[in-house]
Amino acid sequence: MGRAFVYVILGGGVAAGYAALEFVKRGISPGELCIISEEPVVPYERPALSKGFLLPEDPARLPSFHTCVGANQERLTPKWYKEHGIEMVLSTRVKSADVRRKTLLTSTGETISYRILIVATGARALRLEEFGVNGSDAPNVCYLRNLADATRLVEVMQSNTGGSAVVIGGGYIGMECAASLVINKINVTMVFPEAHCMARLFTPQISNYYEEFYKSKGVNFVKGTVLTSFEMDSTGKVVAVRLKDENVLSADMVVVGIGIRPNTSLFEGQLTIEKGGIKVNGRMQSSNSSVYAVGDVATFPVKLFGESRRLEHVDSARKAARHVVAAILEPDKTGDFDYLPFFYSRVFSCSWQFYGDNVGEVLHFGDYTSGNTFGAYWISKGRLVGSFLEGGTKEEYEAIARATRLKAKIEDPAEVERLGLGFATAI
Ligand code: FAD
Ligand code: NDP
Repeated sequence: MGRAFVYVILGGGVAAGYAALEFVKRGISPGELCIISEEPVVPYERPALSKGFLLPEDPARLPSFHTCVGANQERLTPKWYKEHGIEMVLSTRVKSADVRRKTLLTSTGETISYRILIVATGARALRLEEFGVNGSDAPNVCYLRNLADATRLVEVMQSNTGGSAVVIGGGYIGMECAASLVINKINVTMVFPEAHCMARLFTPQISNYYEEFYKSKGVNFVKGTVLTSFEMDSTGKVVAVRLKDENVLSADMVVVGIGIRPNTSLFEGQLTIEKGGIKVNGRMQSSNSSVYAVGDVATFPVKLFGESRRLEHVDSARKAARHVVAAILEPDKTGDFDYLPFFYSRVFSCSWQFYGDNVGEVLHFGDYTSGNTFGAYWISKGRLVGSFLEGGTKEEYEAIARATRLKAKIEDPAEVERLGLGFATAI
């Protein structure tokens, strides 16, 4: 029993939605494309889940944030997929894949075969159990990866207004959820192992600005430690969090954001894996010529850095999805993916963008006291390799992106520091 398609996208997240739109723009026939997703809804903009979806007033709800509204493009509703003859196999997990036979076996027992497969399975949230802490299944412990998680987080938040939350992890999820919890009138304590928040990207000076800003909103920080266990009541609800430094924090709810693992397991032993992701070339093609991979699950060559990276960000998933479709449908006209890494976040009234790579020497500029506009440049081998800006205008963000893509030459770092944003806008 089974169906056969020319193109199958495995995974129904951000990359799948953007790839579907590109397939339709470039022209496919009804019945040629199938998307298989474990989630019960058609692709949506995952970033909304930690931002608009968590707002107490006028929150974002589907269908408003289906792809591809995040890139100001058409909103692809279930009707759109139907009208274009795209087969959506939803609420269906693929249990195994056989790249030699070009088949996928689903949880419903169906075998779906393909001529070309695009793997877009994204990633899963790391669980505390993987760090030796039990209690993730408690009714007031929340993770955030998909719509079901976000719906649950809203329910738990709403039943704890005026109460307290412990946020575990000082990365993207931790920072964005902490802000949303505050807006929902919940007292927040953030706990993470590093000396400052967003340690993988920010310098201590950048982190310090946001930490002070969060403190002004009432957030407490407990840094340099991790949780060791939960205290539960007789119903199994978490009532407190025990830390390695022996502190105990009482909690009405807990939000965990301690990183992700790409969903590669179906292909381990079948495709080459590098840096935790499916290794692909500049056409997003894996070690098997019929299988492509994009989004959080793919490790692809970043031309600008001269090395392969796996990026966990939405802009990369969107652009790689468009590129892979071009590479499949018009191979002769499509070169290698040439991507400038771009990360961003919006919390409270803050909004920042980062382009490039955060290696080398750092120059800070702007006003870190008022926080109106400030930023940083990363310089390696006399060239600009990374730029960060808080509170910029559209033109200013475009300027730092352009300067970074051009790897602007830096002869006098002190002068660049003095010019600050003016260095990028003059290029
Ligand atoms: P996903 O969008 O995760 O999609 C993967 C899909 O595959 C899911 O639908 C999943 O259910 C499905 N799947 C996996 N395995 C199987 C299987 N075996 N069978 C069937 N289906 C399967 N990035 C930014 O740059 N800016 C942001 O502000 C931002 N905010 C974020 C907020 C949240 C809450 C989260 C979780 C992520 C955020 N990101 C953000 C990261 C961004 O959303 C991801 O990089 C992006 O979604 C990756 O797209 P993807 O298609 O690779 O994976
Ligand atoms: P991150 O990798 O951003 O951050 C994880 C954080 O948890 C780090 O501070 C990490 O510290 C810390 N940590 C790791 N282990 C423990 C532990 N045992 N106890 C306490 N803290 C721990 O992952 P997130 O979970 O925040 O985000 C998940 C994904 O969602 C990422 O792919 C991210 O890109 C994406 N996302 C992106 C957003 C955006 O771009 N604006 C917004 C929301 C999500 P250490 O570094 O020491 O390991």
